[in-house]
Amino acid sequence: STTSSRGYTKIKDIGSGSYGKAILVQDKESKLYVMKIIDMSRMDPKQRKDAINEVRVLSSLKHPYIVSYRESYMSEGRNLAIVMDYADGGDLHQRIQRTRQAGKVFSEERIVRWLTEAALALKYLHDKHVLHRDLKSQNLFLTAQDRLRIGDFGISRVLESTVAFAKTTIGTPYYLSPEICLEKPYTFSSDIWALGCVLYELACLRVPFDATSLQSLVQKITRGPTPVLPNSYSPDLRHLCGDLLHREQTQRPSAQEILQRPLIQYEIRRML
Ligand code: ADP
Ligand code: MG
Repeated sequence: STTSSRGYTKIKDIGSGSYGKAILVQDKESKLYVMKIIDMSRMDPKQRKDAINEVRVLSSLKHPYIVSYRESYMSEGRNLAIVMDYADGGDLHQRIQRTRQAGKVFSEERIVRWLTEAALALKYLHDKHVLHRDLKSQNLFLTAQDRLRIGDFGISRVLESTVAFAKTTIGTPYYLSPEICLEKPYTFSSDIWALGCVLYELACLRVPFDATSLQSLVQKITRGPTPVLPNSYSPDLRHLCGDLLHREQTQRPSAQEILQRPLIQYEIRRML
């Protein structure tokens, strides 16, 4: 293996995107980390701002259910390296696919546990006026013990404390919310919608809205029936999913309100 920089040794590549690549590295104590290497030289000013934004947001966050940031630095003059804790259980998207392929489903207990962890992390973010803006199963990582960690703060935003919505519109959100379809601003409740999409995906092993074109997707999200969870899950969980996927954003519960539901309160007490 080759020594990368700052004493980190590369283990393997784990992903690449428009921003650059992500590699698995270890430090001198053999502890594993993910290093996102972002090539800033080929970026336009907006992308550069996004990259620096991710660092700024990530470095200010410290929560048990959020991927923890270690450090960041410039290397070779043009690369921004962001080092964060490695979640060794893969991501929720992979887990959902494997469960479907095995012909299995997630138990209600399993789903409520992950949902509670995600809601606790989301409350923390929203209390700090941070919008994640790209919540999806691919950005929810798992530890070896199956604890959830919210990651990928690439397009998150820290809002001005008094302004409850983001002025800029989002790039390409995975779970388009009705308000985004209607070109309204992304708000805290748009993250809640995305959480509803994740909940639906965990229970049904497929995304709640699917279409072959963006136009028909937007049609389904803004006018189609609200997707419902199967009867095999409790009325409380099915109601919660319906509330998170409420078309009218003001009707969706806040992260704090999710945490107050008896179903979630029960889980929080079990977690202690
Ligand atoms: P993007 O989605 O823009 O490519 P991400 O940060 O979500 O950026 O992920 C880049 C790659 O690294 C993906 O393959 C992802 O699954 C993986 N990854 C990102 N963060 C972690 C982490 N903390 N633990 C494990 N894998 C991660
Ligand atoms: Mg991602």
